[in-house]
Amino acid sequence: HTCAQVDYIRHNIRTVADWPSQGVQFRDITPLLSNPRVFRVLIDEFVHRYFDERPDLIAGLDARGFIIGSVLAYELNIGFVPIRKKGKLPYATVEESYELEYGSATVEVHTDAVKPGHRVVLIDDLIATGGTMMAGKRLVERLGGVIIEGAAIVDLPELGGSNKLRAAGLPLYTLVDFS
Ligand code: AMP
Repeated sequence: HTCAQVDYIRHNIRTVADWPSQGVQFRDITPLLSNPRVFRVLIDEFVHRYFDERPDLIAGLDARGFIIGSVLAYELNIGFVPIRKKGKLPYATVEESYELEYGSATVEVHTDAVKPGHRVVLIDDLIATGGTMMAGKRLVERLGGVIIEGAAIVDLPELGGSNKLRAAGLPLYTLVDFS
């Protein structure tokens, strides 16, 4: 990608201070979705990244990973799988829990959503501590999937999540860093 495209994306991410709690700088991607020109530039960044690689599936993380992941899968003419917060999926699931600053979170995926040997790209809007992406990786691998890499619009490198994920053997592709 070119700097112009990444700058265009960066400038259309809205920062909301102290939301959802004091001290958090929330990186709001909804302006990337509401403007059709920037939405297309955004999705095309990921389409170009994976066009030659031909993954079998895009696995999107609840909930903003669904928005970009489903459009990406459609463009690549491959399937989309939602990795959901616990309690939303109707069929048999496998689940993974991970620690948050206060308490824990659990995500799950349908047991038949990923077949052994499927090559999967995991996608979310943002990587903070990396806990969500790591749980997604474990779920896909438990079902026999092979992860090509994790993708996100935003990385917050100072929180250490992306380093931790790479150290755990998950290559990452992110477009914009915020400190
Ligand atoms: P983590 O598991 O800590 O990497 O957190 C990543 C998940 O939480 C993603 O699904 C993000 O949508 C959300 N998230 C965490 N921190 C932020 C932030 N500062 N701005 C926007 N979303 C965030």
